[in-house]
Amino acid sequence: MVSIFLDFVNSRYYKTHPPFQDGLSDPEWIWQFVRNYELNIPLADFLQYQDDIFNLRDLMFDITEKIEENGLVSAEDLHRLNHFMKQVHLILEMELTPLGYQTIFIPVDPGIACLYFQVTASFSGLLAKGDLYRLKLCKNPACQLAFHDNSKNNSRKWCGNTCASLVKVRNYRKRLRYQSK
Ligand SMILES: [Zn+2]
Repeated sequence: MVSIFLDFVNSRYYKTHPPFQDGLSDPEWIWQFVRNYELNIPLADFLQYQDDIFNLRDLMFDITEKIEENGLVSAEDLHRLNHFMKQVHLILEMELTPLGYQTIFIPVDPGIACLYFQVTASFSGLLAKGDLYRLKLCKNPACQLAFHDNSKNNSRKWCGNTCASLVKVRNYRKRLRYQSK
């Protein structure tokens, strides 16, 4: 599941966009996030472990930026990522679903370990699948949302149409200014 990792990293976007409050310190954003992904984490845990959670997000953003630059995750960054993954203890269970038998992983401890588990598993799943080159940051400098490029030729530069048109208009104006000099 890529989306939980993307939503988590993109919580930083709201520092500079409405409601102009970092998602990770906004109870409303946290409530939505916990509900969307059915996480068993009380709000109090987000506050208690706030520094660690911010560190995890910074690390994931750093790694995403570096992947775009050179397609690699450094040994040091892997070590930092594993620091969070080591804090998760899991129980394995088999379950019969409409799709057949599945192994499910359940964190032993409720609370913040659930967040580390879901977010790092989504991220590391992407890394392990070799889909690194599809992980990108929007090229609009005022946006920088992380996204997964599903396009056929992996050519997307922007998170969506709004950023694409904004950047195109800006570049067009720049060219006009240049020509009139
Ligand atoms: Zn964007």
